[in-house]
Amino acid sequence: MNTLKVGVLAFHGDVSEHEEALKRAAEKLKLHVDVVLVRTKQALLKLDALIIPGGESTTLQKLCEREGMWGEMKKIKNIFGTCAGAILLAKKLYHREKGQKTLEIMDIDIDRNAYGRQNESFEDDIQTDLGATHAVFIRAPQIKRIGKNVVILAKRGSEIVACEERVQDRYYLAACFHPEVTSTLFHEYFLKQIQRTA
Ligand code: GLN
Repeated sequence: MNTLKVGVLAFHGDVSEHEEALKRAAEKLKLHVDVVLVRTKQALLKLDALIIPGGESTTLQKLCEREGMWGEMKKIKNIFGTCAGAILLAKKLYHREKGQKTLEIMDIDIDRNAYGRQNESFEDDIQTDLGATHAVFIRAPQIKRIGKNVVILAKRGSEIVACEERVQDRYYLAACFHPEVTSTLFHEYFLKQIQRTA
């Protein structure tokens, strides 16, 4: 069986949680997954997929640009973005900081910090197409618009909180919450999807 090389952008945020969740998901699915902590342009090359963790989208942008990784990230075919990672994927960003940009690769519009400040963070049990899960929202963004190829995977009330987009050989998965801290549901799903394209 082929080994999947899956990177976790490892500047800050839930890096070890994603690493662990990926490893546990791979074990459950009996897949060979090589988890790579990515901090350089070199490490980005030859990945089958990348996870962009939550954290701070402006900081992630600056660090990726400083390392000359921005252009390479746009070329990665399978990306799972959680929270700040989902912000980075979006075509359009509301309430951006001065100079802030996104990779503009997934056809969603997103509003950062839409729920308010850090102390307005919350947790909730949500239903998703992948199953029920506990979801942790930390200064989470809201998805305001989805493109025609984007499929909703989870809603909380009327809000879309997880979705995916498949265009040709590219696959993007976005979650407004932090799946890495509660289960391996989304990591298993992501691995299954990239198996199809890798
Ligand atoms: N609101 C943060 C940002 O703009 C994201 C928060 C998170 O990733 N938990 O980057």
